[in-house]
Amino acid sequence: MTKDLELAGIGMTSRRTRDRLIQRLEEQGICSTRVLDTIRQVPRHLFLDEALAHRAYEDTALPIGHNQTLSQPYIVARMTEALLEQGPLKKVLEVGTGSGYQTAILAKLVERVFSVERIRPLQEKARQRLSRLSLLNIRLRHSDGGMGWPAESPFDGIIVTAAPGDIPKELLSQLSPDGGRMVIPVGHDGSQKLVLVTRQDDEYRRKVLEPVRFVPLLAGVVR
Ligand code: SAH
Repeated sequence: MTKDLELAGIGMTSRRTRDRLIQRLEEQGICSTRVLDTIRQVPRHLFLDEALAHRAYEDTALPIGHNQTLSQPYIVARMTEALLEQGPLKKVLEVGTGSGYQTAILAKLVERVFSVERIRPLQEKARQRLSRLSLLNIRLRHSDGGMGWPAESPFDGIIVTAAPGDIPKELLSQLSPDGGRMVIPVGHDGSQKLVLVTRQDDEYRRKVLEPVRFVPLLAGVVR
């Protein structure tokens, strides 16, 4: 297949299928036009193995190997919307690159994205997929994201796509003191909540957004 055709998608990955997904996200309360347009544009099927590509525009999480999943589009939309609610962001840290799909969405909406992944083979695959989309404002790193990315901090935004029991102190301290925002799932299996943390100087405010189900944030790296 030519590159253009592949990016545009055919059949179950076509424009009409994507429009249906957008409509579903709107029905579920996603209202940011920028976020919805970006989800419509970014080819989610390219972030899945071929055998699953035909399910890319269903509103469900899908397996990406190594016991990990590509997040459900509604969750990607909800987290991105919450992160950008107060206006555009310059530097964003993503913890848990996974397939690279959320990374691509962010790259279209903020100035620079720094994304870390602990499983090397997933990171390599994400790098290949992202390079096909010619997104030049992304930096990837193989490391334990619970430590953040100190050399690049502070971040205006932090998005975490795996759930810790408690919010790591390192991430809180790498949030910009001038209105930095972090969206993070917190808690153990069965009782996780999506939390928005906003920082003003030394004051951190937490707001619970909704119950969610994420894979756990794990320590250390896998080669
Ligand atoms: N945003 C991804 C979600 C993938 S699932 C996507 O849409 O595809 C969560 C990812 O977080 C997994 O790839 C998992 O390996 C990664 N992860 C878990 N703990 C981590 C940690 N401490 N540091 C970096 N990545 C981590």
